[in-house]
Amino acid sequence: MCVQPQPILQREILTPLTDWFHAASRDLPWRRDRSPWHVWVSEIMLQQTQVNTVIPYYETFMARFPSCQDLAAAHLDDILKLWEGLGYYSRAKNLWRGANYVVNHHDGTVPDTYEELIKIPGIGDYTAGAILSFAFDAPFPAVDGNVVRVIARLTNSPWTQGNAKDKQCARSYVQNLLDHCPDQASLINEGLIELGALICRPKVPECGRCPLHQNCSALIEGTAEELPLPKKSKKRPVEDLTILVVRDNLSGRYPVRRRAPDGLLGGLWEFPYLDGHRSGEEVAVLLEDYGYETLDLRPLQPRRHIFSHLEWNMVGWAVSVKSMSLTDDPSSLIAPIIDGQELADHGIQYDDADYSFLTDPKDMDLIWVDAKELYEKAMATAIAHFRDEAIGNI
Ligand code: SF4
Repeated sequence: MCVQPQPILQREILTPLTDWFHAASRDLPWRRDRSPWHVWVSEIMLQQTQVNTVIPYYETFMARFPSCQDLAAAHLDDILKLWEGLGYYSRAKNLWRGANYVVNHHDGTVPDTYEELIKIPGIGDYTAGAILSFAFDAPFPAVDGNVVRVIARLTNSPWTQGNAKDKQCARSYVQNLLDHCPDQASLINEGLIELGALICRPKVPECGRCPLHQNCSALIEGTAEELPLPKKSKKRPVEDLTILVVRDNLSGRYPVRRRAPDGLLGGLWEFPYLDGHRSGEEVAVLLEDYGYETLDLRPLQPRRHIFSHLEWNMVGWAVSVKSMSLTDDPSSLIAPIIDGQELADHGIQYDDADYSFLTDPKDMDLIWVDAKELYEKAMATAIAHFRDEAIGNI
């Protein structure tokens, strides 16, 4: 059941909260300009990402795309390149789609109603509430994980992290506060978010410094550190991969391809890879079968990359090759299709998936680029580490 603040409690919470926010809030670049566009971009970047990580990305992004129209007119490749390293790349694509939606449906002006905002690709309840309250000072709640945690503790509610019903209870609680003080929507929302980020932190809340400690039920009950309750974690599947940074010795070019537009790291660029962890010998045999003599082959530092639902456990090889083909066309790498018998001749067993990067029709998009072009392409951090290490090694 949702707990709602009583009128007397509202007064006791709101003044200390807003006073504390005035005195202690951080000077962040997106707080210097509360236009709807600035709020929108910053809130999307801040999803699942630390403030200090976001700051340089936000500043570069806003310098390049100072308005919604600027982003809508940009090429998605350029946007992904600027987003490189920030992760959760679907955010960048949705922001671009959203900017185009606003240009097409609202003449480039970010709307000021919940009903219209929620129609924009990539904007959900939280972002709509943030835009409405921060940019328009409208009394809409902006409830993220920080706010759920603060309210769960203030009310000593046994809510579970990520639970939609519990989040709705927190929204209802904050809405009640805003209804009591509708002209301070921005201050109240930002105050709760900032309190969760700086004081009422997940593992060790600093209750001694908290402006709300006199009204905190979890502090009184001694349950602050337990709330909200952790959600049952599902074990992430782990995929073993071998990343190949291949350099054609003659042309100095590298094969890369773009991932399918939807799905994990959609639209970003990647190197060919093999399923499983492959030895240098296996890699050299594979390349030979595709008409390339291996001149040099060096292991790259193994890396793990954790996505929300999946983990990549990667090894990598930086390989310098020479084409054995009579043609100088490096794209001949993708031409031959090896059958199982030829592989067995080498004493190596591969299943079909091993060759997916060479035989899948979509891999006809494999292109060869020089190092400069390679660095111009947006790659996920998981893959870019191999690029950075290999280019220095080859
Ligand atoms: S008193 Fe402690 S648990 Fe309660 S809101 Fe403040 S920091 Fe959080």
